[in-house]
Amino acid sequence: MSTADTTTEAFAGTRPSDAADLPDYAPIPNSARGPALNEQGYHVELVERNLYAVTDGTYQSAFLTTSEGVVLLDAPPTIGHNIRRAVDEIASANGLSNKVTHLIYSHHHADHAGAASLFDDKDIVRIGHEETRRLLLRDNDPARPAPEETFQDKRSLTIGGERIDLAWLGSNHSPDNTYIHLPDHDALMLVDIVNPGWAPIYVANLSEDIPGYIEAPAKAMAYTWTHFLGGHMGRVGTRADVSLHASGVHGRHRRRRPQGDRHTRPHAVLHEIRRELVGGGARLPRRRHRGHRRAGHREVHRQDGGRRRVHGQHRVLGDGVDPPRPRLRQPGAPVSELQGIARFEFRDGQLEERP
Ligand SMILES: [Zn+2]
Repeated sequence: MSTADTTTEAFAGTRPSDAADLPDYAPIPNSARGPALNEQGYHVELVERNLYAVTDGTYQSAFLTTSEGVVLLDAPPTIGHNIRRAVDEIASANGLSNKVTHLIYSHHHADHAGAASLFDDKDIVRIGHEETRRLLLRDNDPARPAPEETFQDKRSLTIGGERIDLAWLGSNHSPDNTYIHLPDHDALMLVDIVNPGWAPIYVANLSEDIPGYIEAPAKAMAYTWTHFLGGHMGRVGTRADVSLHASGVHGRHRRRRPQGDRHTRPHAVLHEIRRELVGGGARLPRRRHRGHRRAGHREVHRQDGGRRRVHGQHRVLGDGVDPPRPRLRQPGAPVSELQGIARFEFRDGQLEERP
């Protein structure tokens, strides 16, 4: 057995030439997995009423079937033609038109928009933030036609009787990332910020604006919704997913930040979060340990927000207890972190920071 250090940190900045030299990665935790894909490699699920989410297990798109046609929310190229198949499947099951009449871009990135050109009906209406339009015109990518319809701060759409509220609340992952709120479907789509059930990928989901990225989940929580469409992974997210993410990213960032120094070393902080969430997922209690649990254990140690990952440490009491690892033993989010998550609210339709 080799004892070489194969952590991702040890390989940062290197380019191994052999697969055997590649770093080890933590497995995808069960918390991030969605339902099984069908034979064609996709899964489409009902979110609420006529809103559906479609996934290939890694990327997520969504659509509304309306009396006037289909409104598509993002077109990730990894799902590609399976978006069409999912739309056809649902439209035919509901006896509705499968014609995609509208495409709404969450942001301009190719990995969420690169299948837009598959929906190139001459009548299609593409909608996105004005910065999405500017960036797509700049990129001049035939796979991602620029939206003709744009908005600056917010825009409320009614398509086929369904309401879709678009808002730009500052840059975060990208300069144009849009909050897509479907109030009558109890859903919010905000892509590339929170990966439900998992940690952000490298460098805060490759965000361009780290402070904006850290703040985004709190803004998302100010909306009313139950279903979260994060653009990634196999399942639809929940408010618990977003608040768990927010308490990790926002809370830790604040706690470690020296007074008066606004944005110190978010990169290092996020490494810690990755280690905790990814590693923690791998340590979720497994079936074979069931018999080792003690009565009353849950009452003593249960924490909100699914933070039971720390409990692997608690199963062995007495001899053999690991030395204290403070970041893995926090007894739930302190009140200051929860205030961080509930930092914003809408007043007369305007998002405002709470006093
Ligand atoms: Zn992106």
